[in-house]
Amino acid sequence: MKPGRVPCLVPFCRRTASREKFPDSEIICGKCWRLISRATKARRRRVQKLWNRVDARAQRELEVHGGVHVLTMRRWDRCQALNNAIWERCKKEAIEKAAGIG
Ligand SMILES: [Zn+2]
Repeated sequence: MKPGRVPCLVPFCRRTASREKFPDSEIICGKCWRLISRATKARRRRVQKLWNRVDARAQRELEVHGGVHVLTMRRWDRCQALNNAIWERCKKEAIEKAAGIG
């Protein structure tokens, strides 16, 4: 594999994506992404929207007040947990569908 490329996490899928585009350590390639159900993908988009909003708020508080409000921190933590959970769900679906289980 070329440097700067990350392999798709689905077993036996030989595709890769560029590290630059996916700073996370795990990626699901476009081909495998299509195996995931619409409902799960829609949920992931919703979670990411929420995450972006909370993250922007935390940034703003940090700039304006020099710190992040405890409630914002709590929301941030919750969003991160949601984000992780939905990513695990995406992985599970892609892997199971690719293996013909789902
Ligand atoms: Zn793949």
